[in-house]
Amino acid sequence: MLELSGKRVWVAGDRGMVGSALVRRLEREQCEILTASRAQLDLRDGGAVDRFVADRRPHVVLLAAAKVGGIHANYAYPADFILENLQIETSVIAAADRHGVETLTFLGSSCIYPRLAEQPIREEALLTGPLEPTNEWYAIAKIAGVKMCQAIMRQRGRDFISAMPTNLYGPGDNYDLQSSHVLPALIAKAHAAKREGARRLVVWGTGTPQREFMHVDDCADAIVFLTQRYSGEQHVNVGSGQEVTIAELARLVMEVVGLEAELVFDASKPDGTPRKRLDTSCLEGLGWRPSIPLREGLASVYQTFLHETASGEIKAIHP
Ligand code: GDP
Repeated sequence: MLELSGKRVWVAGDRGMVGSALVRRLEREQCEILTASRAQLDLRDGGAVDRFVADRRPHVVLLAAAKVGGIHANYAYPADFILENLQIETSVIAAADRHGVETLTFLGSSCIYPRLAEQPIREEALLTGPLEPTNEWYAIAKIAGVKMCQAIMRQRGRDFISAMPTNLYGPGDNYDLQSSHVLPALIAKAHAAKREGARRLVVWGTGTPQREFMHVDDCADAIVFLTQRYSGEQHVNVGSGQEVTIAELARLVMEVVGLEAELVFDASKPDGTPRKRLDTSCLEGLGWRPSIPLREGLASVYQTFLHETASGEIKAIHP
């Protein structure tokens, strides 16, 4: 068990949804949390990241920084997704390696698995079949990150591990409809429909794909747990077991927002992968379980959304 007390822990990507959840979680430990805003440190810049690590000497690195987006953004900007993610991963992992960091946890995504992987998806399914085309650029970059960590662990014997979270949601999510994931998009659309008295809620695709959702605070807790207790080349799935169809999610969001409307499915938009439920036997075997039910998480995130909208933190919601 890695003791965090008295350690310097760098959360790379601390302004993002996952990074800020990690900071909240680490505040309960007696550790020094290192952060750096985008203006202070461009994580794509290998030289700058190297100097940062040489100077600040973290004992532990949690790599939560990534260029992320929903199905439309991934499909529309493949170059940005593959290049920026590879740049961020290479500069952070290489600097941590060069300066002797002993413990690093890399965060991937469930989209690394083959599009038609057997469900629930076990860790061993990695690289056993073709990827989902809507996000293969992002997935390839994430697979490279997993492999970099495995290689460093094998060659140097340091604890560079990887965790693969399922679809996440929580405070600080992106509500821009062009680049967001489905859950914040449906909250923003249902909220706008309620305010405008609209009778229809447009859902992309057929509504039949299934997705598993996890509150980011549960994810952050699992990441800290793995960082402290897990050591192995095999990446570890971080799932919630809370799987719904997109149509079911839309109905749940309408309930939470208090909207009565007809669901309209826009089949001109892609469905993406039909299903990506993670097998979490490994994480559960280590002794960790999630604690935030989807309905409860949605209700709390809607309250945060109302708060962030009122305070002007959420600005651009393009229809
Ligand atoms: P994915 O999990 O990587 O496919 O990414 P998303 O969270 O963006 O999309 C999940 C599913 O939700 C896909 O089947 C989308 O077509 C569907 N979906 C339905 N309505 C929306 C929406 O308004 N925005 C997004 N991003 N996805 C939507």
